[in-house]
Amino acid sequence: MLTIGVDLGGTNLRIAAYTPAIGILRSIALPTRLEAGPHAVVDDMCSAILQLIDQCSEGRKLAGIGVGSPGPLELPAGRLHHPPNLPGWDKFDLLGEMEKRLRLPVAIEGDANVAVLAEYTLGLGKELGVDSLCMLTLGTGVGNGIILDGKLWHGAAGMGGEAGHITIDPEGPLCGCGNRGCLEVLASATAVASAGERLIKAGKAQGLAKLQTGRASLTALELAEAARCGDKDAISIYAGTGRALGIGLADLINVFNLPLYVIGGGVAQSWDLLSPSLFEELEKRSYVYALTAPGRAASSGMPGGGTQVLPAKLEAEAGLLGACILPLHLSKTALATC
Ligand SMILES: [Zn+2]
Repeated sequence: MLTIGVDLGGTNLRIAAYTPAIGILRSIALPTRLEAGPHAVVDDMCSAILQLIDQCSEGRKLAGIGVGSPGPLELPAGRLHHPPNLPGWDKFDLLGEMEKRLRLPVAIEGDANVAVLAEYTLGLGKELGVDSLCMLTLGTGVGNGIILDGKLWHGAAGMGGEAGHITIDPEGPLCGCGNRGCLEVLASATAVASAGERLIKAGKAQGLAKLQTGRASLTALELAEAARCGDKDAISIYAGTGRALGIGLADLINVFNLPLYVIGGGVAQSWDLLSPSLFEELEKRSYVYALTAPGRAASSGMPGGGTQVLPAKLEAEAGLLGACILPLHLSKTALATC
C-alpha cells in the first residue's frame, strides 16, 4: 500500500511517498511559487506527485493522495476562502484542480487536522491509547485539530476546530480574523515576537533591545533563548503566552473533557518556559481539569490515565506525515461505518 502526502505551506511545498510498513520512502521539497499564482503551484505539486508515484509504486497499490492545506478551507468541497498564508487563492478549487490534473483519488484537510491525525495515529495518541484528542499548533498562527471517537471533527462546513480564534482578552490586539484578543494573537510565534517588539519600542526591555541591535526584530526562538539566559522581560513574555494558552485550554477542557490535549508548532519547543503558567491557569479556571488531571479523584476511569496536556511528539514532521496517512485513515473510517 502506497500513499502520497503533500504539505502545502505559504513558503514551502513538501511531497512524500509513504507506506505504513516503512514510513516515508522518498520526499521532494519545493518553494511555493506564490507569485506565479495557484495554478502554477498546483502544477508543481502534481508533477512532484506523479514523479514520486513513478519512482515508488513498483509492486505497491496506490491508496490515495492526501493534502494538508492552510485554511480557511471549505469541506468537503476542498475550496479555499481568503487564506492569509496563500494570498490570491480566495475561492480557489484546490481539490477540483488537483483531481482534474491527476485523475486519482485526492483527500484534502486543513493543516492542523492532518497534524492532529499524525499525533493520533503515530504519536501521543498511539502512545496513550486514546481515541479522542485536541491539538493546538503554535506557529505563524494558532491552528487547531480535533479527533472525536477516532474521527476528525469537521463541523458543518469543514470549519470546526478554530480554537485559534476563541477570545482570550476582549480588549486585546486585533486579529486577522477581525476579532480582538484571539488566542492566535496572544500565543502564536508571531504574538511572542510582537510582544518583544512592543516592549523594546516602549523602551521597557533594555536587555532585549541590546540583543536586537542591528536587526529589525527578534524571533520567538531568540526570545526563548534570552529567557533561558535569565532575561526577565523574555521570561514574562513566555509566562504571558502560557497564561493565554491556559485560559483557552481551560475552556476546551471544560467543553470536551477529552483525555489528551497536544501543543505543537515551533512555540511548543519552549514548553519549559510556558507550561508553569499554563498549568496554573488550568488549575484555577477548569474544575474539569482539577478533578481529572492524572492522579486526581475523577481520573482513574479515563483512557490515558487522566486529562493529559503535553507537548507534541512528532514536531515539524507532523504535517507531512498526517497528509501521508490521511487516505489510509479515510478508508479505515469508511470501512468502520459500513
Ligand atoms: Zn482571530
